[in-house]
Amino acid sequence: MRFPGRINIIYYHREKQRERNYLTTILIGLLQNFLLFTTSINATNRLVISLYNIEKNDFNRIIFSCIILFAIINLENTRAISIPIIIGHRGASGYLPEHTLPSKALAYSQGVDYLEQDIALSKDNIPIVIHDIYLDEVTNVASVYPTRSRSNGRFYTIDFTAEEIKSLRASERFDHRTGNAIFTQRFPVNKSIFHLNTLAEELEFIAGLNRANIDNRKHVGAYVEIKDPSFHRTQNRSNISEIVLGILAKYNYTKRSDNIFLQCFDIEELQRIRFELKSDLKLIGLLTDNEDRSEYSKTDYTYWTSEIGVQDMATFVDGIGPHHSQLYEFDGTIAPSKLYSSARKYQLFIHPYTFRSDADPQPFSTFTKKLEFFIDELRVEGLFIDQPDKAISYLKTRRVQINQGQILQGNFSVFLSILFFIIVCFL
Ligand code: CA
Repeated sequence: MRFPGRINIIYYHREKQRERNYLTTILIGLLQNFLLFTTSINATNRLVISLYNIEKNDFNRIIFSCIILFAIINLENTRAISIPIIIGHRGASGYLPEHTLPSKALAYSQGVDYLEQDIALSKDNIPIVIHDIYLDEVTNVASVYPTRSRSNGRFYTIDFTAEEIKSLRASERFDHRTGNAIFTQRFPVNKSIFHLNTLAEELEFIAGLNRANIDNRKHVGAYVEIKDPSFHRTQNRSNISEIVLGILAKYNYTKRSDNIFLQCFDIEELQRIRFELKSDLKLIGLLTDNEDRSEYSKTDYTYWTSEIGVQDMATFVDGIGPHHSQLYEFDGTIAPSKLYSSARKYQLFIHPYTFRSDADPQPFSTFTKKLEFFIDELRVEGLFIDQPDKAISYLKTRRVQINQGQILQGNFSVFLSILFFIIVCFL
């Protein structure tokens, strides 16, 4: 089912809890604007009111005009506060080792909307929350089981049982060859105590947090990625999606309205999940380019990022998850890309990955400018971020600015105000 128009998309996206927040935002906004009118209001609106008073002296008309103006401003404000969902990328992985429960708890407390789970299968077919098909860059597997690497020297998640994997110590990500940290400013490698978890354990963890947090009415969702189905097929595990969907169903994630997204880089696998496995979950097609795809992958991203490919994908996914750099073109100035336009044309959600405040923001001058471009200009519906608190504080600052009337929402608001002024004065 398609939902035309952005507001419907936001409704669909945020589900019942979010709808309540959305309506509350409008009501609070109306009240705030009423108060602003009685004290000081931004220039355009003050001008409209004062000019009106010169021309007319009809109290009822002033009241009526105020109500209409409040409505215009608030419609605009609501439109202007583009509220993307914030997805804790592997948790709050900018601060604590990825895919550990402390990292997920921190992201939760920072206020994310969704927590991400990457899934690879264990030897005993249990979905493990881990980013790689390898264990050797986030755990101490090489020292605990030194003889169990394959001929290429790598330790594969699928060669170990869930029990063995859970007994390993997890760490901040490091290079398996050198042992050096990938992100040098983050949590130190091999310090403190962390563990990996199964998908079921993490879903229970999220359900527990949502239950304990009931006073805040926060209902954080799951954002599950099936990793490398083509690799799993080479290991006689072509049923990884069936196994993952089975666990999700057990935890009541079965339909579009449930608080979950299912993502995958293998676009054909998403097609299979929708049409053969008949899943009703919201699906997100992750995108990259052919040079950066997994060594096992045959997915042709040149096709899937073309307009015809996006149109094709829109018949079975709800949105795309491109690398953020695929959404703009830079030629001295930054402009939306063709992929962006195609996704908008076919009404797909856009959830770019991965925002990192400790990475180079080029071609943006700062990380905040980067957030501004994606949130306020492209109005993406969600984003994956390693430091969720940075995006959440950006959104809060933005909302305060708008509510205080410091940001007037562009020409459309001015146009409507002038049009309204003319109607009221001359009719
Ligand atoms: Ca992922």
